[in-house]
Amino acid sequence: MPELPEVETIRRGLNQFILNKKIKKITTLCEKSFVGTPSIGKVKAIRRFGKALVLDLDNQKSLMIHLRMTGQLIYDGKERYAAGHPSDNFIAILPNKQTRVIIEFEDGRLFFNDQRKFGFIKVIKTNDVAEESFIKKLAHEPWEMTVTELYEKFQRHRNSLIKATILDQSIICGLGNIYADEALFASKIHPERKAGSLSKQETEALLTAACEVMQKSIDSGGSTMATYVKADGSKGDYLEKFAQVFRREGKPCPRCGEQIIKIRVAGRGTHICPRCQKKGTK
Ligand SMILES: [Zn+2]
Repeated sequence: MPELPEVETIRRGLNQFILNKKIKKITTLCEKSFVGTPSIGKVKAIRRFGKALVLDLDNQKSLMIHLRMTGQLIYDGKERYAAGHPSDNFIAILPNKQTRVIIEFEDGRLFFNDQRKFGFIKVIKTNDVAEESFIKKLAHEPWEMTVTELYEKFQRHRNSLIKATILDQSIICGLGNIYADEALFASKIHPERKAGSLSKQETEALLTAACEVMQKSIDSGGSTMATYVKADGSKGDYLEKFAQVFRREGKPCPRCGEQIIKIRVAGRGTHICPRCQKKGTK
């Protein structure tokens, strides 16, 4: 599933191809994947709310896109831009049997592919976007949040494990498993500590780290989740370039050389340096 930085990367990628372009036709191949009546107009803006993308059209309507588990957006024009769940579809001839919606522009087509059909495109009034139940519920993203706000939330959930707490999208928006592990490692906080045990300084370090790891990921752009498809179908490996602990179990900690281990916390595979991230400090 794409995490927030990937969706932001997709937003920026799509900006280059469909911003200010007119939609000529929308074809729905799977009813479940498209909610509402297809709306035709020029794409005036591409916004992101958490992990949802919203294409605002010049007719007061917007298309809200959720990729969920296996959704992909593949723009095919003079160049191809493929984003979302990585698969052979990135270089396949489209449409194919996983294509759910085709959005046609004057100079290209945007394919919404979704193997498992959990993703969808929904037509809503542009004025109502902020009122969408999903968007209304979103907590602040790390860069919108103050240390005090986060600290108070940790106090309200004092007995929850810190990793579970920062994965909770109603507490802080945008941290998925990769970024939670990376932010906890960067701020030297053990994922099994109680949220209420973090000092204000530790909360600040964690928030700063969360902003940094996500910003770094957005800046690096070329994750496997969003890529300009080269003729040979090669894709950049974002995790290799970026991750300090995530999926690096057995490898040395880049900070102290201790072996990184994988444990389970709150039901999620979790990567830590047992020397840098101590459990019993508070
Ligand atoms: Zn270490």
